[in-house]
Amino acid sequence: MSSIENHLETSPYILVLGMGGTIAGLAPHPTEKPMEYEAGQVEITSLLAQIQSAVPEGVKLVSRQLANINSRNLTEALLTQLGNAVQESLADALVKGIVVTHGTDTIEETGVFLQLTCGKNAQNLGKRVILTGAMLPANAPKADGPSNLLDAIRWASTPIDNCPGGIYAVMDGRGCLAMDLAKRHGSALNAPIQGSPSSSVGLINPSWLSGVKAVQALWVEDLPIPKENEWPWVEILTSHAGARAETITQWLSSKVKGLVLAGTGMGGFHDAWRDSLVAAVKHGIALVRTTRTGAGETVPNLPEKDISGCLASGSLSAPRARIALQLALNAEKHAQAAGKSLTWQDFFARIAVLPVIR
Ligand code: ASP
Repeated sequence: MSSIENHLETSPYILVLGMGGTIAGLAPHPTEKPMEYEAGQVEITSLLAQIQSAVPEGVKLVSRQLANINSRNLTEALLTQLGNAVQESLADALVKGIVVTHGTDTIEETGVFLQLTCGKNAQNLGKRVILTGAMLPANAPKADGPSNLLDAIRWASTPIDNCPGGIYAVMDGRGCLAMDLAKRHGSALNAPIQGSPSSSVGLINPSWLSGVKAVQALWVEDLPIPKENEWPWVEILTSHAGARAETITQWLSSKVKGLVLAGTGMGGFHDAWRDSLVAAVKHGIALVRTTRTGAGETVPNLPEKDISGCLASGSLSAPRARIALQLALNAEKHAQAAGKSLTWQDFFARIAVLPVIR
């Protein structure tokens, strides 16, 4: 194993990018209190050294530490660095696949970001990019990180029956499209995959695979990766009992470029917001509507007719819709600079129609 920074590699390898998270976490008292730990403490080289003897014969690993953070502190600048690292590595003929170790808190954002910015390229090149993480710190007695990391390395390096290149995630013995992975429980060991369509890592389910292919067929072009300091400012606002107009109006005097509305039920919001949302659209703020329920699709004009210019998020959760809206706003800027009259709505609509794998 060696660092990619030296650029001395001459034979094919799997690149493992370390971002931190619980998989790299340490607990001071791992046996008695494994959940009292600090994320992002162990270097990726040490995590790989622990599993080296179980790595499939002939698979060479090269690692690169991009960050070592608790992913609740993920920044847009770091997403830019990760996206660029993935794109550069995909273009390298020696890189056969990529594994990204990541905290599970925001793996949902990174999954959709990589799908929308690198997914087509990975598919075209036939390379798999696999996100993984853990729910227990590295020194906990039953740490799940080593088996997740091994599964991710196997998935990235092994030809698996007909499973195309793309952006996937592996946790707890199951794999899914990375854009379908989300943490839906605060502490359960299988929290990051609960409720997501997935397939056993060892035995790919044909109906899941046809779902992957349906998503990939509709995803025709990767979106540009925003420069570190050029991410449009987008906030998530939740509708709830007792919602106030001020929650919206306060943004009118800010530099915010978009709002994701996590609505109740089918993605409706409190009537107290309506007039101020119309004012926000007039002000040039992009609006996307999703549901705060955590499941189900948000479709146009339900539960009532949409405010003109506001788009429904399809199956995107609020954190995913936020990344998608940022990428759509950035893509609009690039398109307009190139003299094309495409709007953020054109780009966002392409994302919101991606099918749900069941
Ligand atoms: N807070 C941790 C993180 O997201 C949780 C985890 O990795 O599971 O980095």
